[in-house]
Amino acid sequence: MVVYTDKESLTPFILSKKNNSKKIGFVPTMGALHKGHLSLVKTALDQNDVVVVSIYVNPTQFDNLKDLENYPRIPVKDQQFLEQLSGDIVLYVPDNKDIYGRAVDSMNFRFDGLEHQMEGAHRDGHFDGVGTILTLLFEIVQPDMAYFGEKDFQQLQIVRKLVEKNSIPVQIIGCPIVRENNGLAMSSRNKRLSKKEFKEAAFIYETLSEVRSKFSSTSINKLKLLVKERFLHHDYLKLEYFEIANESTLVPAIRKRKDNKYRAFIAVHCGEVRLIDNVALP
Ligand code: AMP
Repeated sequence: MVVYTDKESLTPFILSKKNNSKKIGFVPTMGALHKGHLSLVKTALDQNDVVVVSIYVNPTQFDNLKDLENYPRIPVKDQQFLEQLSGDIVLYVPDNKDIYGRAVDSMNFRFDGLEHQMEGAHRDGHFDGVGTILTLLFEIVQPDMAYFGEKDFQQLQIVRKLVEKNSIPVQIIGCPIVRENNGLAMSSRNKRLSKKEFKEAAFIYETLSEVRSKFSSTSINKLKLLVKERFLHHDYLKLEYFEIANESTLVPAIRKRKDNKYRAFIAVHCGEVRLIDNVALP
């Protein structure tokens, strides 16, 4: 596996591939890789001549220094994990200086209101950080296709908006959520859960599944109350938000309208770990 740690050495490689009309697929990650990341990489390998995976924990998208410091980092394991899948993957592991130069700062973005909902409302500056790092990474990697998980559905919609508004020539591909056997959405942060917490966190997807099964017969208001009640006396899980929102605008819905598609979104604290998940509603 070829590993690049700076853009100066990655750029000539990218340019040589582009000059030979090779299609470049890109999977940006923050590492601590799991099968969810791998599913994105597999799809990218199927659809492109060259696949670049980046591993970079981007400081500007963290609103909480402790969360940034505690974010799991296992670079050797990550490389082995990718190597098992394919030796052809190109790994890009930059440091802050390579990405940001001297000033690790965010640019400011407007995403037509998508940035004000849910994660945007609860994590100050998060989507400015996401917009910044992806703008920079798209410039460096120059991908034809880039792959993002529905696990971070709001982020996926924001990336689509970023690309559309700035006319970045990349096709954004959304990939389904990969779950643990107990239903918990795979996440790098799951590595910080104790065994007991991991087991208890299955309750999040159980709740979303109940919402999905009751969606056609129950009002949005009642569903919201139901979710609040379910978490009220939970010993391990603390609900941060639950929303049912329009899939394209992400505006929380009050009443169901026939032509709209909806998703349920949730953020929960389990001990020190913040978990998010979502499901499409029928
Ligand atoms: P992260 O390393 O958390 O920044 O994630 C990198 C990419 O992997 C993002 O596009 C995530 O949405 C995606 N991803 C993370 N977890 C999952 C999962 N369980 N299933 C599918 N995609 C995922």
